[in-house]
Amino acid sequence: MRTVVIAIDGPSGAGKGTVARAIAKSLCCVYVDTGAMYRSVALKAKDLGISLGDESLVAELVSSSEFKFNANKVIVDGHDVTQAIRAPEIDIAAAEVARLPQVRARLVACQRAYATAGMLVMEGRDIGTTVFPSADVKIYLDASPDERARRRAADLSHRGSRGEEVANALEARDRKDRTREVSPLKKAADAFLVETTGVSVEDVVHQVMTIVRDKLRDRS
Ligand code: C5P
Repeated sequence: MRTVVIAIDGPSGAGKGTVARAIAKSLCCVYVDTGAMYRSVALKAKDLGISLGDESLVAELVSSSEFKFNANKVIVDGHDVTQAIRAPEIDIAAAEVARLPQVRARLVACQRAYATAGMLVMEGRDIGTTVFPSADVKIYLDASPDERARRRAADLSHRGSRGEEVANALEARDRKDRTREVSPLKKAADAFLVETTGVSVEDVVHQVMTIVRDKLRDRS
């Protein structure tokens, strides 16, 4: 049985998580949230007082820690950090460690290891461009900055933050993700662009499912 990879990329607040989970559920396949990996590394570095710019120390953390990711929980060295990695200060800390080439190289190797037999839905920023450049289906979800900021502000983890704070933090993180030297956030040339501004979750999932089914039919 060969591996079939469905790559879902896009900026924060574009709806990747919700859509990727729904697609994985509908196809009964493995789902991997690569953002949770960068978040976990950032959380552990912060907890240990390691400077987020110290590339070799942060990269060493990736190799010396035990990370377990599944659809519902994130466990780092036996501790459940599912909620902790969603804290607003980890949003920006994750984008800091994501700039470090050695950290990316190690996490990309972990991500590629998920491609065993069967179907895989992986979401992130560079899945279609770097992690799986030959993915069977590539989707790039996008939405206007205002809409993405509104969605972020409505997240449980950002309740209590002012809308303006959320919008500014989102813009700063976007800038970091789009301008970093290694694997910046960008649409792969062969990815399908799905614009989600003003579109319901159900409609976005339906659009993406239609693309996935058409693509997989063409390939079989
Ligand atoms: O997707 P999420 O918002 O949880 O990702 C957190 C951060 O991790 C992003 O802002 C980005 O800097 C980084 N990331 C990345 N490449 C990925 C997934 C996430 O650089 N494939």
